[in-house]
Amino acid sequence: MQAVDYLIVGQGLAGSVFAALLLERGRSFVVVDDHHRTAASKAAGGIINPITGKRLNRPSLIGDLLREAFSTYTMIERLLGAPLFARRRVLRLFIDGIEQRRWEAKQQLPEYEQYVCPTPPEVPSNLASAHGAFEITVAGQLDIRQFITRFRSLLKAQDRLLEAPFHYDLLRISSTGVEWCDIRAQYVIFCEGHRMSENPYFNVIRLNPAKGEVLTLVAPGFGDPRIIQCGKWIFRSLSGELLAGTTYSWDRLDETPSCEAKDQIQKGIKSFCKFNFEVSDHRAGVRAVTKADNRPIVGVHPKWPRLAILNGFGSKGALQVPFSARQLLENLEQNEYLHSEIAVCRPSLWK
Ligand SMILES: Cc1cc2nc3c(=O)[nH]c(=O)nc-3n(C[C@H](O)[C@H](O)[C@H](O)COP(=O)(O)OP(=O)(O)OC[C@H]3O[C@@H](n4cnc5c(N)ncnc54)[C@H](O)[C@@H]3O)c2cc1C
Repeated sequence: MQAVDYLIVGQGLAGSVFAALLLERGRSFVVVDDHHRTAASKAAGGIINPITGKRLNRPSLIGDLLREAFSTYTMIERLLGAPLFARRRVLRLFIDGIEQRRWEAKQQLPEYEQYVCPTPPEVPSNLASAHGAFEITVAGQLDIRQFITRFRSLLKAQDRLLEAPFHYDLLRISSTGVEWCDIRAQYVIFCEGHRMSENPYFNVIRLNPAKGEVLTLVAPGFGDPRIIQCGKWIFRSLSGELLAGTTYSWDRLDETPSCEAKDQIQKGIKSFCKFNFEVSDHRAGVRAVTKADNRPIVGVHPKWPRLAILNGFGSKGALQVPFSARQLLENLEQNEYLHSEIAVCRPSLWK
């Protein structure tokens, strides 16, 4: 029997960031993952943006989320010895006059000031901006796919990865820990993304999973270093790939790319990009969205204190995972307060 501090189920963004924090702290662990079979993290754009959606809202806890994301990804880059994260600006082109007026009302608010450029941005001639634009200065992009692929190699080299499905019926729980196959751990941390619905301990919590798709484009003339957003988004990743996304659909929840989504993204990109492009790749994934409130699910099970969860990151995993993973670790090891907005014990999740 192998004895470790933690057993982690799932090696997408959540499981990987939690494992990286454990490495930093010198804890022992094993990760079980089924070859990224359903990882949303493989399809993700990795955009970190403090002002999002049609309503131009700021996610709650945004200051803490950004601080933790920037410092954690820098630590992970050092750990893996590879560039994976970059601070970026976002050029937000208004879709229409309604969005433009909405922004006019918001831009003076002090809570927005620190994230945006006070002067109107320069819009290059290869982009269409009939209604104007503003620029977000405190944003970033994580190459999530590269991160989880490189991290997987590190885990393999250190003999910390078990490439297999996690069978829940083999889990044995006691007051001091858990046992699964020949592994004994103090805690099991569940990070299965949308397949949390198969987890018999947590599947009472309802998800509203949303499939999303991303295209890789070829357009040699496009060299803007910013993330460009106008309904859809387009940007060049650190490795030079030109990515364009994304879509939301609530039927056919699988990882198979669809013609409808491809058409939708291409049409959206053409509405504000004046240059030609070709599609070279197409990926799909399913986001784990919490039905009650679209917020993360973090902490130990109310009845099973040796079982913990790190999930429910919806479309903002890159922004929310580092803060949530740190909160979970401090909660387990120092008994520190878990923020009520993300705590798994909030009553709305268990109705
Ligand atoms: C098209 C698209 C675009 C996106 N763009 C962005 C973006 O720009 N910015 C952003 O922040 N977020 C984005 N997201 C969201 C982001 O991908 C997620 O929030 C994040 O990747 C979720 O990570 P996770 O580790 O929770 O889940 P996942 O990445 O789904 O990982 C779960 C892992 O667990 C494994 N697993 C599950 N069950 C088991 C089991 N029983 N046994 C063994 N292994 C198991 C899976 O195979 C997988 O490898 C996007 C998502 C999609 C689909």
